[in-house]
Amino acid sequence: MTQLITIKDKQFRPYLSAEQIESAVKNVAAKINKELENETPVFLVVLNGSFMFASDLLKEVTIPCEISFIKVASYHGTSSSGSVSELIGLTEDISGRTVVIVEDIVDTGITLEKLVAILQRKNVKQIKVASALLKPDSYKKDYKIDYVGIEIPNDFVVGYGLDYEGLGRNLKEIYVLA
Ligand code: 5GP
Repeated sequence: MTQLITIKDKQFRPYLSAEQIESAVKNVAAKINKELENETPVFLVVLNGSFMFASDLLKEVTIPCEISFIKVASYHGTSSSGSVSELIGLTEDISGRTVVIVEDIVDTGITLEKLVAILQRKNVKQIKVASALLKPDSYKKDYKIDYVGIEIPNDFVVGYGLDYEGLGRNLKEIYVLA
């Protein structure tokens, strides 16, 4: 029997267990440890949703690295595009460095595209992307997601850092809209 949970006005059903997530995160870490062993990367953890993934992932990362926490703020300005993105929290000089963006979920890829554009202007050596979850049916951008934990269908999920109206981030499993 599936154990439904209620968050505000919506019901969610269990989708990915803590064990499934743990094994996916370990696979991502193993790949990073192998591919970036000579790099001393800077991990840029995109708050808020990525905090839990980042914590689990970075405990399994064994290569020397730095960790920093950032936010992407979007606001509607007067520019022609109508939307301006700004990076908050990055105080380190990352020029010449290998940067690993740590995301909770990549859906359309709009957020990621903006972040990559900002980082590319900072003369980094290379940008890699690690995301706990990816919705391949929704993702239409060309930018390569280097390290993906689990690919999921185009459904709304909560838990493991992801929220519904501010709630559910603390759940150690991932739930999907019932
Ligand atoms: P994108 O810009 O790739 O379309 O969306 C990225 C952001 O949308 C994520 O960082 C996350 O905050 C939010 N998002 C996308 N899909 C989901 C989902 O299924 N559940 C939750 N809680 N947030 C999502």
